[in-house]
Amino acid sequence: MICPNCGTRLSTGITLCHFCGYESPLGSDNEQSQKKIELFLTKFIALFTLFALAISISFFLYTTMELKSLDKSLVAIISICGGFLLTFFYLIISPWLIQKLFDDMFHGK
Ligand SMILES: [Zn+2]
Repeated sequence: MICPNCGTRLSTGITLCHFCGYESPLGSDNEQSQKKIELFLTKFIALFTLFALAISISFFLYTTMELKSLDKSLVAIISICGGFLLTFFYLIISPWLIQKLFDDMFHGK
């Protein structure tokens, strides 16, 4: 947004002007609806990424299991279930995983 007091361009989500100190009252309606759209898009992208991951794992499982002489539709069902289960498992452990991986960066040394 742009500061209504001095015209300085402010980053989205910033309600306090760093130049003149003007504080906008909780952002405009337009800004709030924009935030909602951004939140929705973020969620959509996250869900889409997870869905793509699930499909990839399913496809991987399918191609690996297909080598065995099992019924194709059975292999497909097992693959899709496995893909979505593994993605769900990944979703559960990812906060822990990220914390473990990047803990050093956030706290130094
Ligand atoms: Zn200002």
